[in-house]
Amino acid sequence: MNTRHKEGPSPKTLAVWGGEEGVDKLGATQIPVVNSVSFDYPDLDTWLDVATGKTAGHIYGRNTNPTVEVFEDKVNLLEGGESSVSFSTGMAAITGTLFSLLEPGKRVVSIKDSYGGTNVLFTDYLPKYGVQVDLCDTDDHKGIEGQVAQGCDILYLETPTNPTVKIVDIKRLSAAAHQVGALVVVDNTFATPINQKPLPLGADIVLHSATKFLGGHADALGGVVSGSKHLLNEIFRFKEITGASLHPESAYLLIRGMKTLGLRIAQQNASAMQIAQYLESHDKIDEVFYPGLTSHRNHDIAVSQMQGFGGMLSFKLKGGYGAVKKFLPKLRYVNLAANLGSVETVAGPPATTSHVECSPEEREAMGIPEGLIRYSVGIEDVGDLICDLGNALEEL
Ligand SMILES: *Cc1c(COP(=O)(O)O)cnc(C)c1O
Repeated sequence: MNTRHKEGPSPKTLAVWGGEEGVDKLGATQIPVVNSVSFDYPDLDTWLDVATGKTAGHIYGRNTNPTVEVFEDKVNLLEGGESSVSFSTGMAAITGTLFSLLEPGKRVVSIKDSYGGTNVLFTDYLPKYGVQVDLCDTDDHKGIEGQVAQGCDILYLETPTNPTVKIVDIKRLSAAAHQVGALVVVDNTFATPINQKPLPLGADIVLHSATKFLGGHADALGGVVSGSKHLLNEIFRFKEITGASLHPESAYLLIRGMKTLGLRIAQQNASAMQIAQYLESHDKIDEVFYPGLTSHRNHDIAVSQMQGFGGMLSFKLKGGYGAVKKFLPKLRYVNLAANLGSVETVAGPPATTSHVECSPEEREAMGIPEGLIRYSVGIEDVGDLICDLGNALEEL
């Protein structure tokens, strides 16, 4: 018996069809790319009805666009939000969310391991506008709860984190935040809605760098935010006025990429687990960080809130940065690059990617050892990837 209909379609189905039903495709089976800056109306009354929101429609490309809207609706259905707003990049989505919901005198509590760009917003930009930011040790749940209990307006979380894939408990910390009336924002980029859905776990807002797993092909930048209609209206207005809008061509690439989200994530989850187990047993590896391993310090939280453990892992080579420098160029099936979440495997040390702005000492202090490699598992055959890793390790 199929009980799916009562619960609604599976995320895999929504990734294919979500946001597309009832859309005018001009007779095509695929979503048209509407490259138009503006939209024209036969008379002023119709135009005014659209401009005032009485009738659905589009006015100007910085605000809304039919192709972009399909992408937003697709993500919204997957995340279970009431409304979604897209941006030109993930950082624009994060900036738009924080700046539209904060004002001088407000306080943000977050974690030390958030994405590098987000961390710079917290340390260099928000304080400039009179917002107090306190960053806690990432998996110190008691410490985070203590900071939240002192009063805050936004609790900003990211899980799993970059690059040591730490896990924070969304349900537990959302409950703590709601006790003091704070909003909970979760960056779900690493997990995707296939592996984790922050909104049903208690978050108020979920956001993504769509550049990564959602798009999945490293050929389009984008960001997207989902949550309640009330909050998203504020965020939409900020986007509309500040103008970091998603391009229709990029929206199309993201829509096309998302069609295979379910397949890609299933493969990446399975391959990452196999690779993590392989590396954990290898004598040239000091430590492997992957939430699916029982050795991961927050494996139990990952089990309770994730449907899959994701395609991101990191591992520490014996021999430090010198070994990393020798090892990485020997890998055949990787891009040595700054992105992640694509169909190709991508690898790099935090020293050149997520934490390029920190000194080796600062990275050590943050728990990021110099021998660490971040490895984003692609959709290649896992046997080939393991063989590739094994050959490169052999040569060390
Ligand atoms: C890449 C990334 C971002 C920023 O996204 P861009 O699309 O590069 O602006 C934010 N959060 C996480 C977790 C990321 O990996």
